[in-house]
Amino acid sequence: MDTKKSSKQQKTLKTYRTVIVGAGPAGIGMGVALKDFGVYDFVILEKGLIGSTFLKWTTETRFLTPSFQSTQFGLLDLNAVAINTSPAYSSGKEHLSGPEYVHYLNRVVYEFQLPVHEEREVMTVVKRDRDFVLETVDAYYVAEYLIWSTGEFQFPNDRPFPGAELCIHNSRIGSYRDLLGDDFTIIGGYESGVDAALNLAMLGRETAILERGTVMDSKSQDPSVTLSFYTKQRLDETTAADGIRLEERTEVKKVTHGGNGAFRIHTGSGYYESPTPPILATGFKGGEEQIHDLFYNTGGRPQLNEWDESTRTPNLYLAGPHVMHQNVIFCFIYKFRQRFGIVAHRIATQLGMDTDAAVKLYRRHNMFLDDLSCCQEDCKC
Ligand SMILES: Cc1cc2nc3c(=O)[nH]c(=O)nc-3n(C[C@H](O)[C@H](O)[C@H](O)COP(=O)(O)OP(=O)(O)OC[C@H]3O[C@@H](n4cnc5c(N)ncnc54)[C@H](O)[C@@H]3O)c2cc1C
Repeated sequence: MDTKKSSKQQKTLKTYRTVIVGAGPAGIGMGVALKDFGVYDFVILEKGLIGSTFLKWTTETRFLTPSFQSTQFGLLDLNAVAINTSPAYSSGKEHLSGPEYVHYLNRVVYEFQLPVHEEREVMTVVKRDRDFVLETVDAYYVAEYLIWSTGEFQFPNDRPFPGAELCIHNSRIGSYRDLLGDDFTIIGGYESGVDAALNLAMLGRETAILERGTVMDSKSQDPSVTLSFYTKQRLDETTAADGIRLEERTEVKKVTHGGNGAFRIHTGSGYYESPTPPILATGFKGGEEQIHDLFYNTGGRPQLNEWDESTRTPNLYLAGPHVMHQNVIFCFIYKFRQRFGIVAHRIATQLGMDTDAAVKLYRRHNMFLDDLSCCQEDCKC
């Protein structure tokens, strides 16, 4: 790394070979992978604290993918971002809370001596010839390679229809205990919506879930498009007394004020009234929207080549849940971590490193997914 004072703007000028933006599981896992592939000249810039997304989860939220200390037998914990690490082991839990996962990420940063700079928000990115110039409040970072891993949680899809501003997006709820009222309407019946209903039911509140498709009926095996078995099981175990009502094939068109301070939720065929602000469980956009002009976009997803590099801007890589190839969606940690090795390998080979040993290691641990045909739905029983 090289540091100078930029005379014109009075900002420090810092030069690295690679900059990673975002210190969530994707940014941290990418940092470990770069080191494993022999790339050491990099920094991770994080606008908040390490794992800050998980500190924003509602208090009641837990991981739905289970963690298990299977590492000893060569099976990586589903929520691990680096080989020989395990959130189950670091927390003693199977379904971690947000803060417990942050503890794990901090352990990884410590063990692998990752150069994370917290409270460094990247405000702009410009490509100048071969280099990227990233601006933070007090510095310019210049880098040949940029890995964008800013996730999606901090970019909620909170304006999906007119009147959405009258609702509250589930990512902005600190704790379900803080919500006033006994009767709630949740718009969206995938993981976040059902999780909200289950948590509210545990507090004795009634909920209606309005879902444009179906909640339970999907034939898909892929938890990226259908409710996980963990959540289905929890929903199956509820009874009528829990007061969760599913309104399937119900698409919300707009929300307006109703009578007596209520909220009117309009669908194609009528309306529902909710005494409390409707809860939006309508998902997230991608953090790469912050630098959207550096990507071509297809169907709301950034276009990437076989190394997860932008097809528009060479040497710009995307890591995390918005990576998608053909129909394969990488929105869980156990999925997107399998691309860390691909990106690290690409950068390392361009820098002339010998990567054979690292590729073998990553393949052995299912962390080097270069053949997407393995992700088809072929579970026999
Ligand atoms: C309620 C809920 C439950 C979930 N449960 C599971 C589960 O059980 N299993 C699973 O695999 N996945 C789960 N997920 C998804 C998982 O949390 C995400 O896939 C994961 O957090 C993505 O990691 P990331 O590092 O890409 O993004 P994030 O964790 O969001 O990290 C991105 C980081 O980038 C930083 N950042 C953003 N913009 C900038 C900027 N301009 N400059 C600097 N830093 C910036 C942010 O502060 C943040 O720390 C869940 C998600 C939610 C919402």
